[in-house]
Amino acid sequence: MKPELSAPAQTRTRDALDLAPRFTEHDAVRLNNLFRGSSTQEMLAGVIRDNLAGDLAVVSSFGAESAVLLHLVASVDARVPVLFLDTGKHFAETLAYRDLLVERLGLNLVVLSPDAEALARKDETGLRWSYDPDGCCEIRKVRPLEKALARFDASFTGRKAFQAKTRANLPRFEIDTSDAQGRLKINPLIDWDASHIEGYFIQNDLPRHPLIAQGYPSIGCSPCTTQVAPGEDPRSGRWKGWDKTECGIHKPGEEPFL
Ligand code: SF4
Repeated sequence: MKPELSAPAQTRTRDALDLAPRFTEHDAVRLNNLFRGSSTQEMLAGVIRDNLAGDLAVVSSFGAESAVLLHLVASVDARVPVLFLDTGKHFAETLAYRDLLVERLGLNLVVLSPDAEALARKDETGLRWSYDPDGCCEIRKVRPLEKALARFDASFTGRKAFQAKTRANLPRFEIDTSDAQGRLKINPLIDWDASHIEGYFIQNDLPRHPLIAQGYPSIGCSPCTTQVAPGEDPRSGRWKGWDKTECGIHKPGEEPFL
């Protein structure tokens, strides 16, 4: 006869671990409501100084408009880590611009690199971008960022609604759906338009990315960025000829609430 199983006398510590996500969609909606009507500067000061979103990082590509968000965040606290994905495919001008901004704004730069073993195994020739850009972005951007973000509670992005139709309805605060951790993704500039950005550059005497003058209004890796004609969607020069609008860090049309 089988012995009867009895209930454990008490819950083991291992069973009692809190595995709930750090933030939920409810938290994101609450933060959107809390800062409704607040300026970007007020929102950033509240989030950073009052520690409303835990450990924070900025994710920056040091592209055409990156200086605005970096200046705004550094004006509140320059110690906020700035994560930069060094894909190995950037324009030399972007790396020089990054170094200039780091020095000028006193940024706390953290360079993220792709895993060497993954590169050797999946992109030995360095040409994966030419036949599988999604796979290339996965190795060079998505995985390294995923690993780095695991230790943060929230990240700032420089996304703006006017940049592309796929970003038109994004809120300021949303949940990062790239994993199950419940990290916040914060889009401080989502309601800024081109003239607002331009005015901020002038007002704060911020340096421009050198490639803008050469017809690149949106700048990513060199093999996947082409010049854009005046009047065209600024992001139409990214992955031209491919049915691809984002690098996998952000998903097209991602708008889980609001
Ligand atoms: S943007 Fe192009 S080169 Fe850069 S990681 Fe993606 S596919 Fe590769």
